[in-house]
Amino acid sequence: MNTKTFLITGGAGFIGSAVVRELIQNSAHRVVNVDKLTYAGNLESLASVEGNERYTFVQADICDAHAMQQLFKQHQPDVVMHLAAESHVDRSIDGPAEFIQTNVVGTAVLLEAARGYWNSLEGERRDAFRFHHISTDEVYGDLGESKIVNSESKRASSDHSPLTTHHSLFTEETPYAPSSPYSASKASSDHLVRAWQRTYGLPTLITNCSNNYGPYHFPEKLIPLMILNALAGKPLPVYGNGQQIRDWLYVEDHARALIKVATEGKVGETYNIGGHNEKANLTVVETLCDLLQELVPQEASYRDLIKFVTDRPGHDVRYAIDASKMERELGWVPQETFETGLRKTVQWYLANETWWKRVQDGSYQGQRLGSIS
Ligand code: NAD
Repeated sequence: MNTKTFLITGGAGFIGSAVVRELIQNSAHRVVNVDKLTYAGNLESLASVEGNERYTFVQADICDAHAMQQLFKQHQPDVVMHLAAESHVDRSIDGPAEFIQTNVVGTAVLLEAARGYWNSLEGERRDAFRFHHISTDEVYGDLGESKIVNSESKRASSDHSPLTTHHSLFTEETPYAPSSPYSASKASSDHLVRAWQRTYGLPTLITNCSNNYGPYHFPEKLIPLMILNALAGKPLPVYGNGQQIRDWLYVEDHARALIKVATEGKVGETYNIGGHNEKANLTVVETLCDLLQELVPQEASYRDLIKFVTDRPGHDVRYAIDASKMERELGWVPQETFETGLRKTVQWYLANETWWKRVQDGSYQGQRLGSIS
């Protein structure tokens, strides 16, 4: 196999660490992981690859142009997989500035560093270089029933109205309509990547994926939050009526899909990645409660802990991905069903108390900050 050097940004995060582990454990490629180590970055998620000679970690901010130029010069990557981002919607509502900085400005800085480096390459190495930008299905906005009904009735009432933009599944052609500061910042970064491909010819690829879940997920996100709250006997806060629908994908299936796109995808193309697992948030929480009841039985039902709380402003009702292009063109299908993936996830949290306790009580972060001078 042709051994390549992958530059992974955000490799200490939830999905990035899954990509790094997959590349080091199941391929012969080299990995350079560049991560700023924000609150969401955790090198303990990479303990299994830390000592591997094909793995290098560099602590840096993707917004630092000089650091990014140096990184390309020193490590001469063949493939960039750009995952570094601020990723939590609630945090983007409380404070959007960091999202604009990292997701928009950071992506522009990285694109410029990649372009400068790519321009310095010649022949086969230049032809083979790839810049893969990892994005979200949230850029497409809301597939909520009300919008679909409204747009269909509008279409019916006018002979000349163009086809509406709301399909029952997001395809690669669905127009962008982001709702939150997070999704707007990711949409902006997608536009920048397309512009760098079209204007400068930079060989880029974009993937837009649905909600991920699995091991090493920071416990502010729905699934780990519910598992850990339930184990602690704390309330399980469900936004609004809990009927928001998300399409769930097991993180290791996403990591395999990303590597396929980075190595086999067609330059300039976008690929939607999803798990064919549309579930209402309340169903997810109830399923978790039932799994916990089976694995950690207790007298009172975990479902009794469910508490409905005020909905998030601008909360999208439904996301759902048409991932048929991934299957048709790259032969990728997820290996896990929602049931097998969720069981693996709960079992992982039960077996890895040290990891999440150190994240929860801040001792991981304290130690890390102490070690950076
Ligand atoms: P995460 O928040 O777990 O990890 C993000 C990582 O980026 C962290 O390690 C953090 O330290 C690092 N980072 C943040 N700002 C940085 C900066 N300025 N410079 C360098 N590193 C920085 O996020 P995740 O859930 O792993 O998501 C990874 C990517 O996948 C994101 O781009 C996200 O938009 C996208 N995505 C996520 C999901 C999901 O369900 N989590 C779904 C689709 C797409």
